[in-house]
Amino acid sequence: MVLAHGTDSYYKAIILETLVKETSSSSVNPTEPTVNIFRDATKNLTSLVKVELLVMVNLIIFGAPGSGKGTYAARLKEKLNVEVIATGDIFREMIKEDTPLGRKVKAYVEKGLLVPDDITLEVLKENLAKIPRGKGFILDGYPRTLKQAKALDGIAKIDAIIHLVVPDWIIIERLSSRRVCENCGAIYNLLFLKPKKDMICDKCGGSLYQRSDDTPEVIKRRIEVYEKQTQPLLEYYKEKRVPFVEARCEKLETPPEVVVQEIMNGLKRLGLA
Ligand code: ADP
Repeated sequence: MVLAHGTDSYYKAIILETLVKETSSSSVNPTEPTVNIFRDATKNLTSLVKVELLVMVNLIIFGAPGSGKGTYAARLKEKLNVEVIATGDIFREMIKEDTPLGRKVKAYVEKGLLVPDDITLEVLKENLAKIPRGKGFILDGYPRTLKQAKALDGIAKIDAIIHLVVPDWIIIERLSSRRVCENCGAIYNLLFLKPKKDMICDKCGGSLYQRSDDTPEVIKRRIEVYEKQTQPLLEYYKEKRVPFVEARCEKLETPPEVVVQEIMNGLKRLGLA
């Protein structure tokens, strides 16, 4: 049976598994409410295991193209013990490998259009299944349509939405000066987030390149698609009463760490960090 990531049953399964492993106890009644099992179980567990069980958090990061989703998600990954699933990165990797599916995906990505939902959902499921049990995630670039959001409801429980609010002029400036490491995917900006050596990644020494969809015409299309198809999803999650953490960026030169701290503060207020 596949358990929805982050749901009550999911936690119960982890607790049972951990209990058997840690204490060789088989005296747990699976029909007992999770809260009771957790209370009894944690009496016998080391504090390290307790912490691991408690900090799992599942997040979605929303924002227009160029709002900084990938940049912030990479930094939050370190702080929150989560995996990042970025559908755009996964598609770019598929295109680079030139697989039959990659060739199909390329036609959409290069025009700034959305990849069909059935392909995207398969890619998401495959990548969610790779996350080690007990570890949470940040989704960057998924969901982008209502259909994708509804499909996600059956797969995982979302603890909060991070919403990046960035004016259009900053987005345009950032995207046209964005460069990405072809080896590790690290994101740079020739204006305010420059690599130490020209066009070389600080982290791995890989070469930097400009994404083929970071051209003025395709950027315009991606922003339109975001406003029409993805922005309405914010309403969907508000109606579902999923908590929001909003982070604003009003200046081009604001360092990523400042925005990341704002997000962390919001998550702390919600008891999620
Ligand atoms: P950005 O948010 O800057 O536009 P991404 O790297 O998230 O960039 O996405 C790049 C492209 O990959 C999108 O323009 C789209 O073609 C495709 N893509 C990524 N995620 C999805 C998704 N969830 N559904 C459909 N297409 C997607």
